Amino acid sequence: MKSISFITKNNNKIYSFEMLKTLLYFIEYDFSYFKEQCRELLKDAKKSHYISEKKTHALISIISKSHPFIEASINEIYNNIVTDCIIDDICLTEGRTIEDLWLRYISPKNAFEKALFSRLSEYRTNKAVNQWQGIVKAQEYAIAKVAFIFNGEACSVPEANARCKYFDLANTVASKEMGISSSESSFVKKYSVSNMPNSVFILNKPAKDIYKRIEHMLDYSGAEDTAAECNAFKAFDSLKGLARPDEKEMFSFIESLKNLPDDIYLPGSFKALIDFEIEKMLENGLMLLQCKKCNRYFKKDENYSERYCYRVKSTGKSCREEFELENFKNSEENIIAEKCEKVSQKLIKIIDKDISKSEFQEWSEYLNKLKSNIQAGNSTHDDLKGFLEHTEKMYGIFPE
Ligand SMILES: [Zn+2]
Repeated sequence: MKSISFITKNNNKIYSFEMLKTLLYFIEYDFSYFKEQCRELLKDAKKSHYISEKKTHALISIISKSHPFIEASINEIYNNIVTDCIIDDICLTEGRTIEDLWLRYISPKNAFEKALFSRLSEYRTNKAVNQWQGIVKAQEYAIAKVAFIFNGEACSVPEANARCKYFDLANTVASKEMGISSSESSFVKKYSVSNMPNSVFILNKPAKDIYKRIEHMLDYSGAEDTAAECNAFKAFDSLKGLARPDEKEMFSFIESLKNLPDDIYLPGSFKALIDFEIEKMLENGLMLLQCKKCNRYFKKDENYSERYCYRVKSTGKSCREEFELENFKNSEENIIAEKCEKVSQKLIKIIDKDISKSEFQEWSEYLNKLKSNIQAGNSTHDDLKGFLEHTEKMYGIFPE
């Protein structure tokens, strides 16, 4: 399993996810249940005059499952996701703008209207954007990028890589032309587990032990006033005399590192993490293929060259199994058709000798009837095989 571990700015938990699988899950995630439930919540809120906190929490836990980034950022970036989805839904179903709704709720009569009004005011003053639309956009983006790189016939990893870079460059060119600054949000920063901004919380126990050892060494004078380059060494200046801890402490430190990933990433945005997952997938030779039957994407398997997926459908079979069955049927049909032709040719050779013209006529008619019965599902290939073998025995025309 190739996984990516990441943190967000204000969350002290490390999240890990399996690359490719997470991307596939997200591009196929059906948000309609969440949307429907938000609509139900709106109906309730109109009656009760407030947005139920309990139901809001339940909805938040539903949408958190669509992607680990959403789960990690639910209190940071997506804290108003439910209200935003409700506002988006009202705008769409009633054909209203944000301005229309803002005017409607300008004198809020209850807690529900107050909640909507305060959120609409935040949009109007550019203090916030609609978080729900942000997620919809992220999914749209991931789908488009996956299609750009992987749709149609299978390609090589270097080709997929070039397509990925082309897609990214097109976005950079457009951003530059449109004067959109994306430098901060497009980055994914790499950390080791011990030099992240929140390492002291994640490695809490050893961080405390270290503090006890170095407390007396720290020199706080002029700690804040120098340029970044000097600041980088400021802490080190206090630690010049730092000796390695004794064996026991080192052992307990090693223990606390266990189960923690070596590399941890801090994505500047959801888009940056989606881009990063695709980049890492290609780096590890993990590719997607588009199924010829259902058009959905699936993980390319080195030992399987056909473009049929392994998802089990309502038929109880996967596209791959269906394809193999058809293929087998086709090859079986070809073998039998060939045999019919051979037996028929042999019979023609013995017409007027061992078989009369009218007998051959009857034989041909019976064969055709049998073939149409197979097509209709009333006879089987085994019936036809049996008939051909019977013919061979009867006229002494055995296969060479
Ligand atoms: Zn399929």
